[in-house]
Amino acid sequence: MFDKIVIANRGEIALRILRACRELGVKVVAVHSEADRDLKHVRLADESVCIGPAASADSYLNIPAIISAAEVTDAEAIHPGYGFLSENADFSEKVKQSGFVFIGPNAETIRMMGDKISAKNAMMATGIPCVPGNNDPLSDNDKKNLKIAHEIGYPVIIKAAGGGGGRGMRTVHTESALINAIAMTKAEAGSAFGNPTVYMEKFLEDPRHIEFQVMADSFGNAIHLGERDCSMQRRHQKVVEEAPAPGITELQRKTIGERCAKACIDIGYLGAGTFEFLYEKGEFFFIEMNTRVQVEHPVTEMITGFDIVKEQLRIAAGERLSITQDQVKITGHAIECRLNAEDPKTFMPCPGTIDQFHMPGGPGIRCETHIYNGYKVPPYYDSMIGKLIAHGEDRKSAIARMNTALSEIIIDGIKTNIPLQQDIMNDSAFGIGQQNIHYLEKKLGIH
Ligand code: ADP
Repeated sequence: MFDKIVIANRGEIALRILRACRELGVKVVAVHSEADRDLKHVRLADESVCIGPAASADSYLNIPAIISAAEVTDAEAIHPGYGFLSENADFSEKVKQSGFVFIGPNAETIRMMGDKISAKNAMMATGIPCVPGNNDPLSDNDKKNLKIAHEIGYPVIIKAAGGGGGRGMRTVHTESALINAIAMTKAEAGSAFGNPTVYMEKFLEDPRHIEFQVMADSFGNAIHLGERDCSMQRRHQKVVEEAPAPGITELQRKTIGERCAKACIDIGYLGAGTFEFLYEKGEFFFIEMNTRVQVEHPVTEMITGFDIVKEQLRIAAGERLSITQDQVKITGHAIECRLNAEDPKTFMPCPGTIDQFHMPGGPGIRCETHIYNGYKVPPYYDSMIGKLIAHGEDRKSAIARMNTALSEIIIDGIKTNIPLQQDIMNDSAFGIGQQNIHYLEKKLGIH
C-alpha cells in the first residue's frame, strides 16, 4: 500500500478519500485553492499545499501545481476524485510521466471513453448494446445529415463527443430544425469542451437512467457491483440515486453486469468505473462510461457492504481485487439525496456561511459532507455541499429513513434543496419506483 497520496479534489469527495486513506494507514496531502483553506479535509490532512487562486482553472485544474505538490511532499500517488481532472487523460499521463501513480485507469482508456463516439464503438465491439445512432462524427454535409436523421427516425439527439455534466446536447423533433441544431451544438461544444465534434443518436422518449458499477484490477479480473437508478434528473444532472434499480430482475442484473465486467477485461480497464445506460421497454442502451469514482457510489457501498474507494487505492497499489463476483451480495435498498446550496425553487446557487449544522443519524443513515458550523460555502465551485444516504431492508424502509433524516437535518444560514428532496421522497410516482429521466422536470413544470 502507498505511504502517502495527494487528493487532487475538494469538498465531500476529498473527505471521503481521506477517510479511506486513514483506514488503510495512508498519509494524506490535501491540495487546495486560496478560497479553500478551511475545508474539513484540509484541516484533517497530514500535510496541505495551496495550489493557486480560487478559480478552478488556476488551482484544481492546474496540472503542474498539483504535480509539484506531490513532488515537494514526496507522495507516491494522486487520487483525482470526480469532476476537475478526474477524466483528463493528459493529467493521468503527466502524473505517470512524473513518476507518480494515477489512481484510476490509464490515459489511453480515459481518452477512449472521454470521446463518446469512440466509447460507443469500443462498447459495440465488446457486445454491449448501444443507443441506435450514427456513431461517427457528423460532417458539414446537410444532405447526408438529414439522411442519417431520417434513418434513425425522429426525435433524434445531437450530442457533443467530448460533452459532460449534462451539457452539450440538443433534441430535434422535426426535419426543419435539424441543420440549425447541429450547427448550434457544434458551436457550443467547441467553446465549452474545446472539441466541436458532434454525433447523432435516437432520442429515447421515456427511458430510465440505469448504470452499472464495475471494478477491475491489473491481473485481468473484473467484477460488477450491480446497478443504480439515477433517473431523477434536472437538466440531465442527477438529483436522487438509488440501488438496486426498482424492477430490475436478478437475470437482467447478471446479464448486463457480466457483460460490463467482460468489457472491462476486453479493454484492459483498471480501477472503478461506471457503465451508463438508458433503459426503455426492458432494453438497455449504453450511453457512456465514467472512468472514475462517482458521486453516487455510496448507494452501491450500502447495499453491497463493499468499500469502492479503499478498493481503488488497493488496485492502484498493484493489489488484486479483494472479492470475486460470487462474493458480491446485495442486501436491502439504498437511496441518496444530493444536498445542494441552492434555492429550492429557482435553483440559483446560494453560497454563504453555515450558521448551524446538525447532522441526522439513526439506523441506516450515512451523511457524506464537509460542512460544519461556521463553514463558509465559497461561490466558486459546484453547489453540492453533501449527500445524505439511507439504507433500509427494502425500498419503502429506505424512503422512510430518508424522510426522517431530511426532517432532522439542520443547515441554517444558506438556502438548500432539502425542501425539494422532501417533496421527491413523498412523491407518489417515486414511491412506486415509476420515475424516468423526464419525470422531475415535468413535476417541476419545466416542460
Ligand atoms: P453527460 O456526460 O453530460 O452526463 P450522458 O451521455 O451521460 O451525458 O447523458 C446524460 C443524460 O442525458 C442522460 O442520463 C439522459 O437523461 C440524457 N440523454 C443522453 N442521451 C440521450 C438519448 N439518446 N435519449 C434521451 N435522453 C438522453
